[in-house]
Amino acid sequence: MTEMQCPCGRGVWLAACCGPILSGETAASTAERLMRSRYTAFAIGDSEYLLRSWHPSTRPESVEIDARTAWQRLLIESTAAGGPFDDQGLVTFTAIARVDGARFVQRERSRFARVDRRWVYVDGDPLDPEA
Ligand SMILES: [Zn+2]
Repeated sequence: MTEMQCPCGRGVWLAACCGPILSGETAASTAERLMRSRYTAFAIGDSEYLLRSWHPSTRPESVEIDARTAWQRLLIESTAAGGPFDDQGLVTFTAIARVDGARFVQRERSRFARVDRRWVYVDGDPLDPEA
């Protein structure tokens, strides 16, 4: 796991990127970093982290990570607020995967909030991938 490029696409090793955020060693400093860490959790199958990084008011009972979905790329399109001095943030992203060999594109505008000084995912609006 240490010698693996981080799936979130920042071009650094997992151990120097989302790894310490998933393990709880460090907290995501911005909403974008939290978004990236959650993408990485989907990519490597860490459902426990997904629940932990979910806002208590919207957190599901459990998360099922579909093993057939091979996440390939995350593109952060834009961010609004979500910085070290904010307590809310928006991140618009496109995530690209292959599911049983077919291309799958998820585009979403996600809402994040800071609870007890930690960024968490609140919810998101699906967007048209082709727009
Ligand atoms: Zn990363």
